Amino acid sequence: ELKKLVKINDYEWEIPRQGEMRVPGKIFASQRLLEEMDEKVYEQVTNVATLPGIVRASIAMPDAHWGYGFPIGGVAAFDPEEGGIISVGGVGYDISCGVRTLRTGLKREEVLPQIERLMDELYETVPAGVGSEGEIRLSPKQLDEVLVGGARWAVERGYGEPEDLEYIEERGCMPGGDPDCVSLEAKKRQHRQVGTLGSGNHYLEVQYVAEIYDRRAAEAFGLEEDDVVITIHCGSRALGHQIATDYLPVLAKAARKYGIPIREKELVCAPINSPEGERYFKAMVCGVNCALANRQVITHLVREVVTALFKEARVSLLYDISHNTCKVEWHEVEGRKRRLFVHRKGATRAWGPGRPELPERYRAVGQPVIIGGSMGTASYILVGTEEGERKAFGSACHGAGRSMSRHQALKSFRAEHIIETLRKRGIVVRARSKRGVAEEAPEAYKDVDRVIEAACGAGLTRKVARLLPLGCLKG
Ligand code: 5GP
Ligand code: MN
Ligand code: MN
Repeated sequence: ELKKLVKINDYEWEIPRQGEMRVPGKIFASQRLLEEMDEKVYEQVTNVATLPGIVRASIAMPDAHWGYGFPIGGVAAFDPEEGGIISVGGVGYDISCGVRTLRTGLKREEVLPQIERLMDELYETVPAGVGSEGEIRLSPKQLDEVLVGGARWAVERGYGEPEDLEYIEERGCMPGGDPDCVSLEAKKRQHRQVGTLGSGNHYLEVQYVAEIYDRRAAEAFGLEEDDVVITIHCGSRALGHQIATDYLPVLAKAARKYGIPIREKELVCAPINSPEGERYFKAMVCGVNCALANRQVITHLVREVVTALFKEARVSLLYDISHNTCKVEWHEVEGRKRRLFVHRKGATRAWGPGRPELPERYRAVGQPVIIGGSMGTASYILVGTEEGERKAFGSACHGAGRSMSRHQALKSFRAEHIIETLRKRGIVVRARSKRGVAEEAPEAYKDVDRVIEAACGAGLTRKVARLLPLGCLKG
């Protein structure tokens, strides 16, 4: 496998252009991560490189693994002026799945004696699990407001504080959505799912800062050693999934209509400048706003629990990032600024310093990048770099990435054993489903420290803080 790859340096590998590839492939990884990466990543990176209008390279991050069409951990940018496409497979089923981290103003020693109680109350308060439902009930028409308003909709209704919005990508609301492009079925399925965590890989984790690597960035992000933070990982629930399901056949038909050769079913796509492509984009934006509202409502629930339990708590949003999106961004490629549709699936935006999109407080240091590890290992807060903007359209990995399929994990691990082992290590797990715990066993993921070493070694990000879990709520 390695033979077809050209080593650029210790953390960058190129799949040279060949056959129908329009651009080379690029994999950011150490040799070891590369050897462990499933072979499908190589194939999928190559397939994506053949799509019309792709610029610079088809990219995979160090946490990459097989996904529908595009690899999870895949980044690809398309130029609409050169026939560039938009693809469901490049965004993923869980549109705008993402993570947000909240500061609590609390120290580890304050929280430790109350951790069981805190996890119990979070478990009681935050709806989680397959098909879980919350207090908010919305008719399809009311849901339209969520699809346009995102986290702003939530804050306007009292879920959260206006200041939260400053610390969300797109400032809490992505423009350009059109609820008319979202099916009634999708809206109906979302009826009672706003403000719910979902299942499996989604989590709500109480963590503490175990180590600081970059004092200046940590100070800007408001982080110190032993600070307790809470991270929420979830997406657009049933709505996002239904949008993806609805548009796969639409884009399959479009690919045939516009003569785009498709190598894998889920790679179906339409030109950005086509009615089908435009409709999918507008629907996808609705999915993004749904996810932003969802994480905002959950934040409100967390804030209520934490402030009721700890008088001194002050819950503020560090940052909210989405790792399943297609965004319109300007990038300099081949010496000119171009308006590109950047697909990041299981990949995080990671702007370097100076970008006007960043909150003022972080602008001098760069964008916070939030990386999950697993319920039993470290997670990280990183910061984006200018080098990453040049090399990967300002993108980084999104987690440790799976090393084992869910099916394989289910066969290999027992939930009770995992929960007990973690308990002995001082990590309190609360879970709706045993199955979910087994599927998400820490051993089913790659070594997050090595993934981060590669992302930073390649210059895509820098380390700011290492987080360790105190308690994890699983769907
Ligand atoms: P995904 O969005 O691809 O499902 O997951 C993102 C990343 O979250 C995974 O690659 C994995 O490293 C991480 N992750 C999954 N479960 C947990 C968990 O319970 N806690 C933490 N901190 N990270 C997790
Ligand atoms: Mn995710
Ligand atoms: Mn998700």
